Amino acid sequence: MSQQSSAALKEMDRQHLFHPFTTLKTFDSTGPALTIVSGSGSTLTDSNGDTYLDAMAGLWCVNIGYSRPEMAEALAKQANTLSYYHAFSGMGTDLPARLAARLSDMAPVPVSRVFFGNSGSDANDTQAKLVWYYNNVRGLPNKKKIISRQRGYHGVTVLSAGLTGLTNLHEGFDLPLPMIRHVRPPHRLWEAEPGMTDAEFVAVLANELEALILAEGPDTVAAFIAEPMQAAGGVIIPPAGYFEAIQAVLDKYDVLLIADEVVCGFGRLGVDFGTTAFGMKPDLITVAKGITSAYVPLSACLVTPKVWDVVMAGQDMYGGFGHGYTYSAHPLAAAAAMTNLDIIENEKLTERAATVGAHMHRRLQEEFAGHPNVAEIRGQGLVGAVEFVRSTSPMTAFDPSMGFAAKVTKRSLAHGIVTRALPAADTISFSPPFTTTEDEIDAMVAGTRRALDDVV
Ligand code: PLP
Repeated sequence: MSQQSSAALKEMDRQHLFHPFTTLKTFDSTGPALTIVSGSGSTLTDSNGDTYLDAMAGLWCVNIGYSRPEMAEALAKQANTLSYYHAFSGMGTDLPARLAARLSDMAPVPVSRVFFGNSGSDANDTQAKLVWYYNNVRGLPNKKKIISRQRGYHGVTVLSAGLTGLTNLHEGFDLPLPMIRHVRPPHRLWEAEPGMTDAEFVAVLANELEALILAEGPDTVAAFIAEPMQAAGGVIIPPAGYFEAIQAVLDKYDVLLIADEVVCGFGRLGVDFGTTAFGMKPDLITVAKGITSAYVPLSACLVTPKVWDVVMAGQDMYGGFGHGYTYSAHPLAAAAAMTNLDIIENEKLTERAATVGAHMHRRLQEEFAGHPNVAEIRGQGLVGAVEFVRSTSPMTAFDPSMGFAAKVTKRSLAHGIVTRALPAADTISFSPPFTTTEDEIDAMVAGTRRALDDVV
């Protein structure tokens, strides 16, 4: 694209596109930072013809890499055969049925039914409605509150933005809705007392959850929602024994567990599901992102027999299930998911996420350990993170208004690397496609280190 047409495109964007999660006044004066026009593997090309290595797989989602011909063929074939038909009133199409069966087979817990949506946010809304329906059918109409965690990310719809434990998603929007509560996340760096063992820290968090449930009244608390690894809130890995301790509290008070696997599901942590990695026993599982590697929007709620049996019993009370999206069980999305899952299986990409991830963690240690502004380097599988502070001794955060991590990610672009700042934790994250080579990982990590040197 010529410099002139690239500039014209950026101006069109500046004037017309309402960008999500964007500082609108700054955008209004600067226009887009990058306008990506093509992608291949882990490489993006912008409208000026400059290339970038994408260390974030978009938004933690393009797990098989960009623009794979097998995906284009599968989508073209489906669009040429049956571009759309709905699933309302018992109607349906072939591929979503096959995909639901496949997801049930591969799920980390027994699954009775799969409900399809379009995004992680709407899937978490569906989960909340299932939880409320479940307790209405059981004759427990007051048992409706949902407990989430600070720094948890569960989406942006009216309900799921409230579940999200990041205040910038609440302020100005009258959120969260009144039935939502938050507890502390298992982030040792800031939440544990100095010298605490994992077991002590886990016991404190489980006790806090129990105290909250008792204070609210167990007959008012319906569910607890948690990402296995908290992604957007700072790449927070739960300490050993965390979910076992939480699960014991939930079981004691008849509180359901919703596992939000939107980032972790389908191999991101080097195993199929985060649920398995961290010993969770969820009643409901939310998946999105990696289910299609973001070639087409798709999400799913995996419903275990415990919830499904009650939903079925509710049919006599409510005469049907009054919920669904025009695009629920969209055949194009199902075609994308089936081919994406074939690629992950055939190319052993989950195993690859583990081995390339191990290389990435080594390189992150080599480049960032010991830096006076680096508080912690953490991650699991093919997710890595570097958290910044003003000083490590004593541990003192930067003033949040400084946006230190954001400065590093912005500067990384000059070195041809796209990372992502997670402002809640002053952290930069790495979550590249599973197909990324070790050489590309080296370039991603070294480029980000050069950006840090430029900023300090
Ligand atoms: N849940 C988790 C764990 C996520 O990371 C996200 C998005 O990043 C969502 C839910 C919301 O998904 P979506 O943006 O598709 O609505």
